[in-house]
Amino acid sequence: MNKIAVLGAGTMGMGITWAVAAAGKKVVVYDIKDEIVERCIAGIGKGIARSEEKGQVPAGTKDTVVGNITGTSNMQDLADVDFVIESVVENMDIKKQVYKQLAGVLKPEVIVATNTSSLSITEIAAIYPRPDKVVGMHFFNPAMIMALIEVIPAIQTSDETVATVMELSKTIGKKPIEVKEGPGFVVNRILVPGINEAAFILMENLASVEDIDKAMKLGAGWPMGPFTLADLVGIDIALEVCNVLYKETGDPKYRPSGVLKQMVRAGWLGRKTGKGFYDYK
Ligand code: NAD
Repeated sequence: MNKIAVLGAGTMGMGITWAVAAAGKKVVVYDIKDEIVERCIAGIGKGIARSEEKGQVPAGTKDTVVGNITGTSNMQDLADVDFVIESVVENMDIKKQVYKQLAGVLKPEVIVATNTSSLSITEIAAIYPRPDKVVGMHFFNPAMIMALIEVIPAIQTSDETVATVMELSKTIGKKPIEVKEGPGFVVNRILVPGINEAAFILMENLASVEDIDKAMKLGAGWPMGPFTLADLVGIDIALEVCNVLYKETGDPKYRPSGVLKQMVRAGWLGRKTGKGFYDYK
């Protein structure tokens, strides 16, 4: 398991590429355009250079880690990889298209692990010709720092595939837990309704954004408040997870707050757009 492909060079793809390359594996990061891939690799280099300047990592770390990474926008370049972590945009149609393409490129024994936050892994596996090789491998943002990986078998996933992903997760320095497939898995099932509830509290004008964040930091020991977290995760992602929880369970307790919907409609998605519950410009 020496050469790993990461598909999607966005927020999560970048963090995952960084984490895997820092663990000494060779990584090929793939996205639809070369400039996205280049931006991803440059971002990793810049991030590690900053850590070197602060003395958080030894000098030379950047060259070693970045030296483990290559980038491509040509899927044929993935023909020799040993493992795939798919982290493309959270859209079932696009993911299905990617899995169809992958089927014609990868070696038959290769496991394809999806980083989806909310889509059905069973549905993704069903379109892949070797569904026993498809599994959920859910990282957390920022993936080069957060230790947890939720490993989620689809109904078709083999025990061998699960065991391999658990092992690989440990090899790259993470702490995996196995979770049965269910909307939101464990973390988002608890966390996203928490963000949504905070948005309802705001909508009811019970407290300010700052004070709601302060309340959960100082009163519940959260490392950051729900709005700071929502801005980091992306309001669009939080809303999408809410919608999936609501749709999959039919339980009205998961209905998304109007505040989240309105912010997404305005394009206020959090840090990535410079504005969310807080202003980052
Ligand atoms: P993002 O929008 O930052 O990045 C998605 C990337 O996918 C983009 O670079 C886009 O160009 C690329 N892409 C689109 N179509 C593609 C295709 N056909 N082939 C290859 N790449 C393609 O999104 P993200 O936040 O990095 O999320 C990616 C995945 O990770 C999603 O499944 C999401 O649910 C999951 N996830 C996100 C978080 C989070 O906090 N943002 C946490 C855990 C898991």
